[in-house]
Amino acid sequence: MGLAVKNPFISGGIRGIKLLRQRNQTLEAMSALFPGHVWTAYPDGSPEYLSQSIREYTGIQISNSYANFDDVIHPDDVATNEHYWEALSAGRDPDELELRIRRADGIYRWFLCRTRAIRGMNGALVGWVCLNWDIHDRKIAESRVRSEGQNHKTKEAIREREAQLDWLIDAVPGFIWTTDAAGSIEYVSKQAEAYTGRSLHELTINGWFDLAHPDDYATVTETWAQSVKSGTTYDTVLRLRAADGSYRWFWCRAKAIRNARGDITNWYGLLTDIHERKIAEERLRHKESHLRRLVDAMPAMIWRATPGGEIDRWNRRMLSFIGKTGEEIDGKTLFSLVAPDERTRVHRHWQQCVLEGLSYQDTYQIMGADGRLHWYLVRGEPLRDETGEILHWYGVCTDIDELKETEVALQQHEHQLREITETIPAMIWCTDADGQPTYYNRRMIEDTGVDISETRDLGYKKMIHPDDWESVIQKWTQDVQTGEHHTNVFRMCHMRREDAQYRWYQVRAEAMRDADGNIVQWYGLNIDIDEQKCAEDSLRKVQTQLTRATQIATVAELSASIAHELNQPLTSVIANAYACRRWLAANPPNLDEARSSVDAILRDGHAADETMLSIRTLFKRESLKKSQFSIPDMVRDAVRLLKEDPTMRDAAITLEFPSNFPDANVDQIQIQQVLINLMSNAIEATENTGRTPKIGITGNVVDELLVTVEISDNGDGIADLETLFEPFVTSKAKGMGIGLAVSRSIIEAHYGTLTARNNLDQGATFSLTLPIFSLADEPQTAAPRD
Ligand code: ADP
Repeated sequence: MGLAVKNPFISGGIRGIKLLRQRNQTLEAMSALFPGHVWTAYPDGSPEYLSQSIREYTGIQISNSYANFDDVIHPDDVATNEHYWEALSAGRDPDELELRIRRADGIYRWFLCRTRAIRGMNGALVGWVCLNWDIHDRKIAESRVRSEGQNHKTKEAIREREAQLDWLIDAVPGFIWTTDAAGSIEYVSKQAEAYTGRSLHELTINGWFDLAHPDDYATVTETWAQSVKSGTTYDTVLRLRAADGSYRWFWCRAKAIRNARGDITNWYGLLTDIHERKIAEERLRHKESHLRRLVDAMPAMIWRATPGGEIDRWNRRMLSFIGKTGEEIDGKTLFSLVAPDERTRVHRHWQQCVLEGLSYQDTYQIMGADGRLHWYLVRGEPLRDETGEILHWYGVCTDIDELKETEVALQQHEHQLREITETIPAMIWCTDADGQPTYYNRRMIEDTGVDISETRDLGYKKMIHPDDWESVIQKWTQDVQTGEHHTNVFRMCHMRREDAQYRWYQVRAEAMRDADGNIVQWYGLNIDIDEQKCAEDSLRKVQTQLTRATQIATVAELSASIAHELNQPLTSVIANAYACRRWLAANPPNLDEARSSVDAILRDGHAADETMLSIRTLFKRESLKKSQFSIPDMVRDAVRLLKEDPTMRDAAITLEFPSNFPDANVDQIQIQQVLINLMSNAIEATENTGRTPKIGITGNVVDELLVTVEISDNGDGIADLETLFEPFVTSKAKGMGIGLAVSRSIIEAHYGTLTARNNLDQGATFSLTLPIFSLADEPQTAAPRD
C-alpha cells in the first residue's frame, strides 16, 4: 500500500513505541465505528497501523503487516497503487484510489481508498490516515451494466458473424458438418439435409456413411475410423446417395479441432460436390484409355518424343515389334535398331528436324524381334502450344515392307516390260488421248529412222507410204474420235532393209481408259507382215492354179466314173453278143439260147442308155420320171447289176422284205443308182478289214404312208458322220465323194430322207425313208437338188 516498508522500532525508540500503542488503541476504537477498513501510514506511504477489520479481511498478522501488504493488492492494480502514493508524496491530492484487495480466502474485492495527510504543529507531514471502503458490490453492478452494454455489442457482433457464417456455409459449394471428438455428427449444413433427404436429427442418429456408394463404403468408413483414432486429417472421395436415390461424387475432408491442451474437441468437415469434375475426369480417363487402346491397336508403331527429340512413349505394337517390355526400352532403342549403314544418316536427319521444328519423314529399315530388317515409313509432327512452343513430337512408323517388296518387284517388272517393249520384234508406240505420239520403242525408231520428236502434229506422215496416207489418217482420226479398236494394214518406210523402201505392217491400237471411261492414251502395235503379205499373194496365185487343176481332175474323175457306170452294161452286152454268136455258130444253132442272149443284150443296152439319160437328167436338172415300182424288185435288180462287177461278186447280200411291202412312186433309175451306190460303198468299207463283205438289206413298212430300207455292212464304220453327205468328201484313193451327196439329193427329191449311223458292233447302216405317194398325191414340182 505504501511506497516502502519502514521499521518503526528504528525510527521512534521506546517512547515512540508507547505513543504508537496509545494511538493504535485510539484508532482501533475509531475504526470499529467505521464501516470500512482504517489504517495509517508513514509519510512515505508504508503501512503503520492496520485495523482489526483489515487484518481479519486480508489475514495479515500485525507482526508481518509491513512486509506483506503489497502482496494482497491485485497484481493488475499494483501499478495504479504505486502511482497514487507517488502523487501523494509529491504533494498532490489524488483524491481516491480504487483497487482490488485479496481476502484471506483468496477472493479479491474492490475497495475505494481515501487518504488524508496528518501534519504536525509545524505543518510537517507526520503520516497518513487511510480508509478502505468496500465498493465491490457497486463495482460489480457497474461492471455488469458495463458488461451488459458490451454483451449487447458482442451479441450484435456474434449475430453478424453468425449471419456471415450462415452465408458462408450457404455459399460454400458443399456440405459442412461437425462431429464430436468421437466422430458422432453434431451439425450438418442445410444443404446436406436437403441433398440426403435426412434431417439433422436423423443424421445425428444414423450418420451418413450408409449413404456412401456400396463400392466406396468400406474405404470411407475405414479411413474415417483411422482419422478419428489418429487425429489426422480425413481426406477421401466417395459417391453419396441423394434423396432421389442417385449418386453424386463428393470430396470429403475433415480436420480435428483441439483445445489448449491439444485434445481433440471436435471435427469440422466439408463435403464438396465434385461430381461434374469427376465425371469429366472419368470421361477424360475413358477417352484416354480409349485412345490408348486405339493407339495400341493401330497397325503401326506410334511413339512420342520430348521437345529435344528423345522418344519417351510408345505403343504396344512398337514393343512387340522390337520384342522388348516398356521397362527395357528407352529413348535410344529405336535408333539403335535402325539398319547400321543408315543409322547415322537417320539420326542426323531426325536431329535436324527437331532443331528446326520441321515435320519429319524418312524411310529406312528397322530390326524386328524376328531378327529381320523391316522397311518402315517414319513420320513425326511437332505438337505446339498456343505460343508455338513444341510440347511433344508425335510419330508413327508404318510397315512398308510389302510395299517395298512390291515396289522392287514393280521396278523389276517395269524393267522387264521395258526390255520386252524395246526388244520385241514389233513396233510398239503410245499416243495421248488425241492421238499425238508420246512413245516409240527402239525397234520403231530404228526401223523407221524417225524420232518421236519429228512425228508430232502429223509429222508421222513421212513414215507412211504416200498411197496409203489418206486412208491411214482418215481411219486413225475416226477411231481416235470414237475410241474404237483400231486396225489397219498399210506400208511404212523401212530404213534397215535396203531391198525395200516400204514394208507392209498390220497396225492395231487399243485405247486405255480411266475409271470414268475417258480415254487416257492409246497403245499401238505394228507387226511387219511384209513377208506374209508376199506369201499370201503367191498363195493366192497357187490357189487359182490349184482350183483350175482340181476342176480338170474332177472332170476327169467324173468321166472315169461315167465310164465305170457304163462299163458294166457294155461288158455284159459284149459278153452276151459273144454268147449269142456262139449259140448261132453251134450246129445246130441253139436259137433259144441265142434269143435269150439277144434279150440280155437288149436289156443291158437299155440299162446303159438309161444310165446316160439319168446322168443327163442329173446335170440338166430335168424332172424325175416317177411311176409305181416294187422296191424289193428294184433292190434285187441293183444286186444283180452289182454282181456283174467281179470285185463285188464275193459279197454276201441278204434281202429281207415283208410280203406286203407296198410299191412306191419313184424314178426307178435314180433310186437304183442310190441303191447301187450304197451297196458298193458298203462292200468297199470292208476292203481293209480282211473280212468278207456282208450286206443286209431290210425293208420295213412304217405306216400306210412311209417305208424304210436299211443297208447294213460289216465294214470299218463311218469316220466322220458330220461331213459324210457333203460333196467331194472321200476316204478313198480314187473316190470322188459325190456319190452320197447325189444320193441324198435324189432321195430328198422323192420327199424321203437318207441318214447314216455306225452300228454298235461293227460297220455302218444307211437308212433310206421313202413316202408311198399315190399318183394323185404327187406334188407338182419335184426336181433333184444341186
Ligand atoms: P466315194 O465312194 O467316191 O468316196 P461317196 O459319196 O459314195 O464317194 O462316199 C463318200 C465317203 O463316205 C466314202 O469315201 C467313205 O469314206 C464314206 N462311206 C460311204 N459309205 C460308207 C460305208 N458303208 N461305210 C463306211 N464309210 C462309208
